[in-house]
Amino acid sequence: MNQDARKIRLVMELRQSGINDTQVLSAIERVPRDTFVLPTFVDQAYENTALPIEEGQTISQPFVVAFMTQALEIQDRSKVLEVGTGSGYQASVLSKICRRVFTLERHRTLLQQAEANFKALGYHNIVTRHGDGILGWPEQAPFDRIIVTAAAEEVPEALVEQLAVGGIMVIPVGRQSWSQSVVRLRRTDQGIEREDLLDVRFVPLLPGTTRRKTGVGSSTENHS
Ligand code: SAH
Repeated sequence: MNQDARKIRLVMELRQSGINDTQVLSAIERVPRDTFVLPTFVDQAYENTALPIEEGQTISQPFVVAFMTQALEIQDRSKVLEVGTGSGYQASVLSKICRRVFTLERHRTLLQQAEANFKALGYHNIVTRHGDGILGWPEQAPFDRIIVTAAAEEVPEALVEQLAVGGIMVIPVGRQSWSQSVVRLRRTDQGIEREDLLDVRFVPLLPGTTRRKTGVGSSTENHS
């Protein structure tokens, strides 16, 4: 089966799993996931599974990407912040639906690879930054939508503060890797409304940033 046929099969599977937002399905159809996976996994790029990327991180399962994107209820004018660029796949899907995506990653090596892919694919509405997403992106706040793609023990206070009134945040929350759920927060005039949406398993949201490949001679810093 060629990649196009695999991609069509994936989109059908997502539809059958309850993804009905046509903007989300069309974004998944248009973004080449095979560009964002490691060369060894290209054959599995359109399987509905998470795959390893550099730095011990993962590119999320397509269903989870679609589910979280749908849960964000994005409008074309939404200003969106993503925490955890990773491969850049989720940011690319978002970039097809809204005007501008701001994305933060703590591993410089991952960010550089993602930036190269955005450039090669001509995704010019994605703005990147090497930084600690737990602190958000104060200079660009407030955001209409915030998506976090690493699991937090608790929702970071700075992100709640950077969410506009009327805004929505989608974030996996859980202390243990086996007990996380995607939580949706809505900021209203009255305060914050919270819903639990889906059980998931994400890599952890970690403080600080790294410049070099993690391993011998790597460093972890608090600021970039
Ligand atoms: N959205 C990504 C999924 C990447 S996995 C994709 O589509 O491929 C989660 C990513 O979050 C990892 O790359 C990890 O390094 C990053 N991350 C974890 N804690 C972070 C933090 N505090 N700030 C920014 N990025 C963080």
